[in-house]
Amino acid sequence: MEKIDSTYTNNSYCRICQGKCCKSCGCFYYPEDINLTFDNLISLLGEGHVSISTMLNFKYSSFNERDLEFMLLLRERNIERGAIDLFSLPTSCASLTKDGCIYKDTERPSGGLHLIPSFKPMLCHYDEEHFAHLAGWLNYQDLLSSVIFKMTHLSYEEKLREDVENYFYNFLTQNYEGVDPRNLTEHQIMILPILERKYPTLYNKAQEKVTKEKTLTLKRIPK
Ligand code: SF4
Ligand code: SF4
Repeated sequence: MEKIDSTYTNNSYCRICQGKCCKSCGCFYYPEDINLTFDNLISLLGEGHVSISTMLNFKYSSFNERDLEFMLLLRERNIERGAIDLFSLPTSCASLTKDGCIYKDTERPSGGLHLIPSFKPMLCHYDEEHFAHLAGWLNYQDLLSSVIFKMTHLSYEEKLREDVENYFYNFLTQNYEGVDPRNLTEHQIMILPILERKYPTLYNKAQEKVTKEKTLTLKRIPK
């Protein structure tokens, strides 16, 4: 892995904060971090620290409504999430331990290395190059899709739809275990309404599943 100098490391800020960014989600890899071949990706995902996930890009649809696009990329794995975690409520990074990150400062995923710490964690921000590096993942969408198919027997679109339905189900059942409260609010306000509009059939399917489960539970209660 070729890495930038750890120019932004500020262990005094991060130690006081105890990793708020890590508790909200694992950090993104840049394409330059990894030997991007099919076989290497299968082996890397098998090691248990990395997931194929997506980054969301907000845009406006032709009806001038807010819309979302998904871009496949690699990210450090979150707690209770799998190797293929295209879309879910983010939990804490699984590589955060009580002693901090499992990686040395300079060996972290590049997305983490390009985050500039601040004495106020809310003000930590990415450097100017960050999003240009992430855009490099656009060249690897087909490769990542083929790995998804190999590991799940689902196309990228099918797996994404499965994950979005599961995301709706977790909201409908208020299953927010391990989700940072700030992330939850952001999803409730900014992301959930757009996805409900974008995937009405999946939302209905999740609702039907909840209704069916409630009916089954009621039937099991002795009279
Ligand atoms: S980068 Fe910011 S949010 Fe992350 S651990 Fe350091 S101070 Fe906290
Ligand atoms: S890989 Fe390390 S720096 Fe990145 S989110 Fe996980 S614990 Fe934090």
